Parts: sequence; C-alpha cells; structure tokens
Amino acid sequence: MTTQRMRAAVHTELPGPVSRTFIAEQAAVESSARTYPRHTPIAIAGGSGSYLTDVDGNRFLDFLSGAGVLALGHDHPELIAAAARQLGVATQLLDFPTGAKQEFTRALRAKLPAGLRDRARIHFCGPTGADAVDAAIKLCKTYTGRGEVVAFHGGFHGSTQSTIALTGLRAPKEHLQNLAPAAFFPYSYCFRCPLDLTPDSCAINCARYLANLLDDPNGGVRKPAAVIMELVQGEGGVIPARPEFVSQIRDITRTHDIPLVVDEIQTGGGRTGTWYAFEQFGIEPDVIVSSKAIGGGHPLSVIIYDERMDGWAAGAHTGTFRGNQLAFAAGAALMRVVERDDVLGNVRVVGEFLRDGLDRLAQRFGCLADVRGRGLMLGVEIAPLDGMPASKVSRQIHQAALRRGLLYELAGRDDRVARFLPPLNLSLDEAAEALELFAEAVAVTEQAVAAS
Ligand code: PLP
Repeated sequence: MTTQRMRAAVHTELPGPVSRTFIAEQAAVESSARTYPRHTPIAIAGGSGSYLTDVDGNRFLDFLSGAGVLALGHDHPELIAAAARQLGVATQLLDFPTGAKQEFTRALRAKLPAGLRDRARIHFCGPTGADAVDAAIKLCKTYTGRGEVVAFHGGFHGSTQSTIALTGLRAPKEHLQNLAPAAFFPYSYCFRCPLDLTPDSCAINCARYLANLLDDPNGGVRKPAAVIMELVQGEGGVIPARPEFVSQIRDITRTHDIPLVVDEIQTGGGRTGTWYAFEQFGIEPDVIVSSKAIGGGHPLSVIIYDERMDGWAAGAHTGTFRGNQLAFAAGAALMRVVERDDVLGNVRVVGEFLRDGLDRLAQRFGCLADVRGRGLMLGVEIAPLDGMPASKVSRQIHQAALRRGLLYELAGRDDRVARFLPPLNLSLDEAAEALELFAEAVAVTEQAVAAS
C-alpha cells in the first residue's frame, strides 16, 4: 500500500473565519509593532514536517521555518523526545555545568574546523541572536580597547538598541537617538552594485574602499573594535557575499588587527550546506555568532571565539536564560540527526534542485530578476512589471503564493526579495511542490498586472 504524501491545501479565504477571530483579538491587545500576522494573516494550530496548519485547517508548505529556527521542520520526533526527556530532569540552570550542556558543547565544538576548534572558547549568551551579537561586540571592545564597529550596507544583526545600530535597515532606527557608533561600508551586492560597477571589472572595489579608508591617515575613521558581517545576508535580501570580497575583508582585518565577527545566526547550523557558511569562503573568523537552528527549535545563542581574545572578566556578559537545558538536549539531538542522516548532503542536493527550478522560472517570467543564495537559503529578487514597482509585484506574488499554500517571507530593500528558508530535510517532492506553487503565484500575478 502506498501512503499519499502530504500536500499544501488552502480551502478558505485568508484569513479563514477562525484565524480572523484570533487575529482580531491579537490586534486588540498586542503592540502595534507586531509583524508577521499583518502580511501572513493566519493563526497557527501546529505543524508536521515541512507543513504548517492554521486554525481553519488550511495546510501550508512552510518555507519560513520560524525564520530559520526549525532546521528539521515541525514536530521532529527525535528532537521532541530529547527535549521531553530533559524536561523531567532540569530546565534552566544559568551557566552551571550539566550533562546536557556538556554533550551539546562537545558536539558543537566538533563542528568547528580543526585548528579553530583547538583555539575555540564558547560563551553561552541569553537566548536571542541579538544578545549574542551584543556579547561579541563587547568582547571585541574589551579585547581591542576601541569603540566603533564596522558593518555593511544591507546587514541585519538584531533589533535591540545596540544591534539595530549595526543593522542596515534605516526605518526602525529613524526615531532612536544615541545609538552606538557604527560605520557602514558597501557589501558585494553585485546585482545592484553600490558602486555602480560590474563584477567582471570591479576589482572588488567594495572591499578596497574599506582598505583604502583604514590606510588613509586622512580617512576620518578611527580603527574599529570589530568588523561584523554576514556571509549570506538574510534580511538584506539573500545576498551571498562574493568569495573575493570575503577574503579581502579577512586580509584587511588581519592586517589592521581588527577582530572579524561573522554573524552566522541565520546561515549557521547547516542552512547553506556546510555547518557554518564561512567554511565555504576559505577564511577563519575571530568570532562566530550562532543561534536560531542550533537549539533544535529552542532558544539558544552562543559566541565562539579565538582564545587569545578571552580576556574579559567574570560576569562580563551574563543573563538569566543562558542555561536552557531543553535547547542543549534538542540541539545535541539535532546535531546527531544531521550527522547520521547526512542532512547537509540533502541541503546541497535539494538546494541545487530548487535553485535550478527557480532559474528556469526566471527564464519564463520577466519579473523574476535574480535567483541567488546557497544551500537552502535562497532568494528571488523581483523586478518591476508593466510600470508596477518591484515591491508591489513582490507583495502580490507573496499573497498569491500564500493563497496556494506556500508560506515564505519577504526580504531585502522594500521587500523586493522572495526568501525561501525551508527545513533542511526538505524532500525533492516538497521542493517540486514549492516550485509549482510559486510558478502559479507568479503566473496569476503577471496576468492580474497585465489585465489592470
Ligand atoms: N543576525 C542575523 C543574521 C539574523 O538573521 C537575526 C535574526 O533574524 C539576528 C541577528 C537577530 O536574532 P534574534 O532575532 O534572535 O535576536
């Protein structure tokens, strides 16, 4: 007997009648700063594997994965079992050593390339990515005695006061005074080069701009405490850095004795096809920031850094929720499954399949301007269509996809990028289904725009 594969199925308008009541109650009591249900109007009942079900019984293929947290999709039995076992032992234990923590730490250290592994120190931070970015910057400031931080156009490092200061997004900080000092430099966003150059002849001027400035006694910028970068910008629009850009930034930071912090909060945990994205760029960072997927679906964040920097004092970065035992147990289980089931191999194979499919769609539909990404972190930049601005086209495709049962998030400048973050154990059939749903969404959007 063959069992039928689950598929996306939406049988109500969106929001459905039950979701509508949840959303109305939420709007009445929650903050105006809430985000997701504004553009994805569903209330969620639960999930299974790569699918999410709303309270009206609609099923969505989930290419959002809790913003990249749910590496093995919803409801993974082994991750649930690991967390459930731990629930009966202990839950929150500050930074005391425990069996669960030891197992997690050993497994995470084993994920580091040899060499780096031998020199690595780990600090467990509060549960969010932003807290770990904050810790990384404090560490670098303490180590160097310097104050400023260099970040890149389009980068995203969090929403707290200190991390928003390092984030490219202008709108959320427009009304915030006295943010920490940060200097922004061009990133290798070749599809829309910030220097108006083309990759064949640019000589990686985006990176050289930073080098020139640091070398120039009249450059006006003090030597920073850190350079922080994503290797594939996520919120910025799924922009993989050019390898030459990354190696030049590494050379520049080394020459000037500036710690290089790689923000692997979204890319880490196997998302790009290697456990950390930096492995694909042939560099060794000074500090790695990791969170999201590594806690097996539970909140956890860490920084991993070179031991030469380990000069900060006891209590330099504390936090009540640094000892999430459920996350340690589920995170260790995640790493076991990833190893045993060759999940990274799956990321590469299914990622390539999805990317090829998107490339084919880009040949068919004029509004799909650029397909990019690594592994299962993929994005499609949308172009204007018959005079309609790209951001509007992108939002229409997004809504059309949702109505067909494909859930994903928009990213990039003015939401112009469709961003796909499916589970890392996505099957080829599920990837094919996503391509089908996305193609339908683009086709109906093109038809609607042509008819308007
Ligand atoms: N850095 C990157 C690259 C991210 O993608 C995110 C979140 O999306 C953060 C930092 C902030 O993490 P958190 O939302 O857990 O604070």
